[in-house]
Amino acid sequence: MKKLLVTGGCGYIGSHMVASLQRAGHDVVVLDDLSSGWRESSGGATTCIGDVGDRALLDELFRQHAFDGVLHFASLIEVGESVSNPAIYYRTNVAKTLTLLEAMIEHGVGALVFSSTAAVFGEPCRPLIDESHPTQPLNPYGASKLMIERVLADFEPAHGLRSVSLRYFNAAGASPDGAIGERHDPETHLVPLALQTAMGVRPALKVFGRDYPTGDGTCIRDYVHVCDLADAHLLALEYLFEGKPTARFNLGSGTGFSVQEVLDSVERVTGRRVPFTDAPRRAGDPARLVADAGAAKTTLGWRPRYADLDTIVQHAWAWEQKRALL
Ligand code: UDP
Repeated sequence: MKKLLVTGGCGYIGSHMVASLQRAGHDVVVLDDLSSGWRESSGGATTCIGDVGDRALLDELFRQHAFDGVLHFASLIEVGESVSNPAIYYRTNVAKTLTLLEAMIEHGVGALVFSSTAAVFGEPCRPLIDESHPTQPLNPYGASKLMIERVLADFEPAHGLRSVSLRYFNAAGASPDGAIGERHDPETHLVPLALQTAMGVRPALKVFGRDYPTGDGTCIRDYVHVCDLADAHLLALEYLFEGKPTARFNLGSGTGFSVQEVLDSVERVTGRRVPFTDAPRRAGDPARLVADAGAAKTTLGWRPRYADLDTIVQHAWAWEQKRALL
């Protein structure tokens, strides 16, 4: 059993992580400022409401708990917002993360799992994106995550802080028991928006671009189940606790689905129509982003359990139905 700090443990991926760490028998403390998370999402874990950039608070937490490692989810995640307001992205995702890293070093905590993103790559130059793909982010969100990856590469030789950066492709789905799921406000992600449209609680879904160079003209993304992401983090922790060096892994299912294919899946799973209208392309959206997650499979032993799109949509649908009753 390890004692772990989870920043952003009240958010979408963080809350699934907390549940999965607890199931694995670990002792979890959550730090979350509730700027986009929900207090009840961290389940029974000890939860401190506060800012990850508050050094005095971090010092107090690190003194109170002898953490073996940190999982750092707390960050801003909206591409469009990062383009219009880059300062808050660099402040939150870079400056506050540096404060966290300095606190870890000061208190002798040497293992970190960092939430990174496929947005570090920018426009793909080959069909499947592995870790050797060039990194040229198209927006401040991707740039802010890439900056921290660089900081982490420098901090191992300088300070002995070892880390695993996990680049998520499109996180989707919910816990199979429907207990927790995605809950952003405002919601910008395709799967929950399509499900809420099918439910009739939203107007027609806007399909952002039908003129991409793809089979049906809509963007292709790699949807990866949030519980498979949580599994990869558990394996990344094991990797670090075995004393292995700083690394980065891409996490995706390796299969791309177009926006239209996602809407078709939502109609199959819910048995309802998803009304849509065709809208212009959204700024900063590459045509196709699909992972080669071979390294996570070989090095970490990652085996995604829910690669099937309909299964991901089914779990998200169960959660949306429950959420509608909350
Ligand atoms: N998308 C769309 N309509 C929406 C929301 C998203 O057509 O209302 C498209 C978006 O352009 C992208 C894909 O769905 O091609 C996935 O977008 P999402 O925001 O879920 O994730 P991202 O790829 O930005 O991480």
